Amino acid sequence: MAVSYHDVIVIGAGPAGLCAGLYTARARLDTVILEKMAPGGQLINTSLIEDYPGFESIDAADLIQKMVSHTQAFGAQILTTEVSEVFSDGWQKVVRTADGDEYRAGAVIISSGGSPTPLNIPGEFEYAGRGVSYCAVCDGAFFRDRVITVVGGGDSAVEEGLFLTRFASKLYLVHRRDKLRAQQIIQDRFIANPTTEIIWDTVADEIIGDDGAVTGMRLRNVKTGEEWVHETDGVFIFIGFDPNTDFIKEPVERDENGYLIGGSHMETDVPGLFIAGDVRTQLTKQITTAVGDATTAAVAATHYLEDLYDRVERPETVATEVSA
Ligand code: NAP
Repeated sequence: MAVSYHDVIVIGAGPAGLCAGLYTARARLDTVILEKMAPGGQLINTSLIEDYPGFESIDAADLIQKMVSHTQAFGAQILTTEVSEVFSDGWQKVVRTADGDEYRAGAVIISSGGSPTPLNIPGEFEYAGRGVSYCAVCDGAFFRDRVITVVGGGDSAVEEGLFLTRFASKLYLVHRRDKLRAQQIIQDRFIANPTTEIIWDTVADEIIGDDGAVTGMRLRNVKTGEEWVHETDGVFIFIGFDPNTDFIKEPVERDENGYLIGGSHMETDVPGLFIAGDVRTQLTKQITTAVGDATTAAVAATHYLEDLYDRVERPETVATEVSA
């Protein structure tokens, strides 16, 4: 097992992690960003970005690449490895990976994001970013005057569905039961909207498309067994979101849905542990909010380390091999 010391370890290389790494590396702190897959986070599931200032329209893959290059240009290392544990050992934060390596740091920024719960049906991943979306604010504007279908029956589905009525010529909501889970007040607002129609007791079995774009869904009424093709240009799936926090072995405060709670400096209850982006409880999950959180977390971590290194001796950053 290799053990190395860094000033800052960032967990996750989505927009929040890349931005946090950019700021700490630019502050001349030895920074390593650990990412289990390719960099990009939720941007990987998107095609076009139109709401990131300075880029009226940019391909998500291009934006990721620009963020990666920018972060690396200031000296942050991005390593592909899955984090399995984060805990404190005195003043040092310890990050262990599934590969069996150990990274130590004075500060850790957790920007591990989360994942929208998928339906796991044929066509869903094939058309992700090409008609299938998990984010109304991000992608709603691409469906101006088009037919949109939302799947889910909770607060997210109904609230995001209401937001999507700003764009949709017709907004269907497909729900697997005959009763919504969402709060009554937003249900009433949803039902009163002339653009909306709820398809009750129905599940989606497949998302279908033509020429790389969604054209419809294969739906099935769970009570009657009736199956049909429902025509739609966009499918927005809101059946839950899971923040990635299983590896945190520290008593970090969470909200009732498992999102981490931080202070105004993105600090947690654990000194030296900061949070940023979709893993954090907040109003909305946007690239702009992720990089905003990350900037705050990185500056707060920099100040934290200045104080820390007045009190403790900073170890060498070179990796050493030790027997497990
Ligand atoms: P949720 O409340 O867990 O609702 C998920 C919905 O998706 C449910 O209606 C569920 O159906 C449906 N569903 C789950 N798996 C499905 C599947 N495989 N196929 C089809 N449908 C499926 O999730 P959420 O709406 O994302 O909300 C998460 C939490 O955030 C909730 O506590 C919610 O109250 C909160 N939230 C609050 C606000 C607000 O206060 N403004 C806004 C957004 C979210 P069933 O109903 O049949 O289980």
